Amino acid sequence: MSLPGSLLFRRGPLPGPIIPLQPESPAPAADGGCASAPVLRERGQREVFCGLTGIVWLHRKIQDAFFLVVGSRTCAHLIQSAAGVMIFAEPRFATAILDERDLAGLADANDELDRVVQRLLERRPDIRTLFLVGSCPSEVIKLDLSRAAERLSRQFLPRVRVLNYSGSGIETTFTQGEDACLAALVPTLPSAGASAQASSLLVVGTLPDVVEDQLAGLLERIGVPRVDFLPARRSSAAPAIGPGTRVLLAQPFVGETVRLLEERGARRLEAPFPIGIEGTTAWLEAAAAAFGIGRSVVAEVTASARARAQRALERQREVLQGRSIFFFPDSQLELPIARFLARELGMRLTEVGTPYLHREHQAQELAWLPAGTRLSEGQDVERQLDRCRADRPDLTVCGLGLANPLEAEGLTTKWAIELVFSPIHGYEQAGDLAELFARPLRRRALLAV
Ligand code: SF4
Repeated sequence: MSLPGSLLFRRGPLPGPIIPLQPESPAPAADGGCASAPVLRERGQREVFCGLTGIVWLHRKIQDAFFLVVGSRTCAHLIQSAAGVMIFAEPRFATAILDERDLAGLADANDELDRVVQRLLERRPDIRTLFLVGSCPSEVIKLDLSRAAERLSRQFLPRVRVLNYSGSGIETTFTQGEDACLAALVPTLPSAGASAQASSLLVVGTLPDVVEDQLAGLLERIGVPRVDFLPARRSSAAPAIGPGTRVLLAQPFVGETVRLLEERGARRLEAPFPIGIEGTTAWLEAAAAAFGIGRSVVAEVTASARARAQRALERQREVLQGRSIFFFPDSQLELPIARFLARELGMRLTEVGTPYLHREHQAQELAWLPAGTRLSEGQDVERQLDRCRADRPDLTVCGLGLANPLEAEGLTTKWAIELVFSPIHGYEQAGDLAELFARPLRRRALLAV
């Protein structure tokens, strides 16, 4: 096992496992919204990145953590090319590469791992939390990273806590990597004392610092007494959890984390996601209501930000209004974004695909989607391509591997991964989010002249 010293770049989707299953055919929803709409479930070949991708934003967010992938050269290439960080910049991630000797069982991978961790922690005294991140190869050779994490924690606590999670491509989609990482953190969070009960809000899901600061500022001005974020920027700021903790989701892909928080007594607040003006307002209202604060306070505090966002959206509405859009499944953010594009920008939704649909967490989003929207969960990429070609949408949101072939067929595409790597939540980002969809349409119009 070794730590790579050079940078290699590679782009492209990683194939997932093939689980053939006949899809159920949906009928259009008769009522308003898609709350009880049927969902086309597909379990065929899918085109998404694996859970290691989450390290790209998690390593930026948790400033005293380090992510050590235990995997192959392919895993190293994926992370390094996706993160675009130079090795001499001392990034907070690396790959311990399993070589032929490890894979053939000729070397004890645990001994090798212990040596790599020892060397890493000597070189990087700033690390407080070390994540051992499992991959397809480490799972194939059944390297037990949870036992390794326990063993190494015993050795390095209290200076460094060692945790583990899986980022392998066997999971449904790449945002599950964040869910697995946050779920690994939950047992380490302190318990809230009785005095802290009924007085804290926990926002779950990684947001860029600038967005987190904006939302924290709004929540503070609204009067929410205490707001914490998971993940916290530093391990010393880890939030305490208890029956008084109210959980508000910033991202739709944290299902397992929420389940573990609920097991510790926390309660999830019903809300849409803070995407667009409407979603952000309802999200803030849900937080306010949990602390007995009325909607009028939210309206007053957010008035200027909403007005700014409205002005920013007007420009993009001219391009997007009435245009049709098709979503291939990618990040689980598809529903809130589709809802925003339909309700605030007047786009027509043809199909909204999502890798996994958590009906409870997405209840408000489903209710807000226009009735008759075709919803699909999972993927059978060839069938979905056929539906997309039949629809001929004005804009197709898809992974990198599908974008070029579809462009060659005359369809206009948007890379779905940009929606995860760009700040898109909250009022100040609403215009930028709309711009991400307007830009390819403008470009296509210019090329057509
Ligand atoms: S974890 Fe699996 S899918 Fe992801 S880069 Fe490594 S080998 Fe590929």
